[in-house]
Amino acid sequence: MNAPLSFPVQIPDAATVARINPPLDADARKALRERAKRLLRERDAVLVAHYYTDPDLQTLADETGGHVADSLDMARFSHEHDASTVVVCGVRFMGETAKILNPEKRVLVPEMQANCSLDLGCPADAFSELCDEYPDRTVVVYANTSAAVKARADWMVTSGIALDIVGHLKDRGEKILWAPDRFLGDYIQRMTGADMLMWQASCVVHEAFKADALERLREKLPHAAVLVHPESPPAVIALADVVGSTSTLIEAVQSMPNDTFIVATDRGIFHKMRELAPGKKLIEAPTAGEGATCESCAHCPWMAMNGLANLVEVLETGNNEILIEESIRARAAIPVQRMMDFAAARKVAILGNA
Ligand code: SF4
Repeated sequence: MNAPLSFPVQIPDAATVARINPPLDADARKALRERAKRLLRERDAVLVAHYYTDPDLQTLADETGGHVADSLDMARFSHEHDASTVVVCGVRFMGETAKILNPEKRVLVPEMQANCSLDLGCPADAFSELCDEYPDRTVVVYANTSAAVKARADWMVTSGIALDIVGHLKDRGEKILWAPDRFLGDYIQRMTGADMLMWQASCVVHEAFKADALERLREKLPHAAVLVHPESPPAVIALADVVGSTSTLIEAVQSMPNDTFIVATDRGIFHKMRELAPGKKLIEAPTAGEGATCESCAHCPWMAMNGLANLVEVLETGNNEILIEESIRARAAIPVQRMMDFAAARKVAILGNA
């Protein structure tokens, strides 16, 4: 193997995030919410927000006829909505996925620097080199990748459908080249037994959850259910009562009888969980054991770059439009559509990724 399988990723520090999305007092937030509502109407725009974004943005999306969801459902909602402009509050690959599926629409994002450690950790050139080295492998990429990486793939998967698709490929005797999340890939490999060559990127939020501290917390709270996103390390996944996508974890809080949940994913998801399951107690899974440190502390620094102020700014200016060269967009649409066709044929849920 010649191509390297991991690349260092610069994680934005708290000061950078605060400069891009400064904290606002209640009056400023109220004024910006009203301005955003007016601009959404005037600009024929709809707001879609990811579960990990600021509660103000999620509330605004719901109040204005937009949508709060995972990335694929954000893109599908955008496709079905009449608005000519879609503002995607999330990270860059989510804006790109919306554009891949909606080439005729204008897709704006509040902050172009809002990215993802999985996307950044899998540059298209290096990934393409690896694909060239292994032409006998079926290329399966996670949704958290750039349009250019998707354009090299045979399949795109979300965390909600990854097991079904990889299991299906294994049954057909296919060997997999998987990218970019090593922990999700490891989980899929263990569950399906597929032959998977894996890229080695990781999510800065989920890789920070600590199994030792989680185990001690679970001992203190034996009545609590542990919910874990599969981008987490294997030792954390091993402690879970439920492993699944963002949509699966939200559904678990609603349907399980437990009154307390320890949640190993970005704490932004608590907003939707509280709304749909009021009265349930939600606790962040620990990101630091004794003496340990965490860089993300259960909240994605790139998701945190989205705020009311930069949302209003892009609605006013039309800046930060997501543009993808048409040959790449059209090629990237193939693995996305293949996944959607598979889901429709099997009637399995595709929702869910970080
Ligand atoms: S939470 Fe992780 S997977 Fe999601 S956008 Fe942030 S870095 Fe990427």
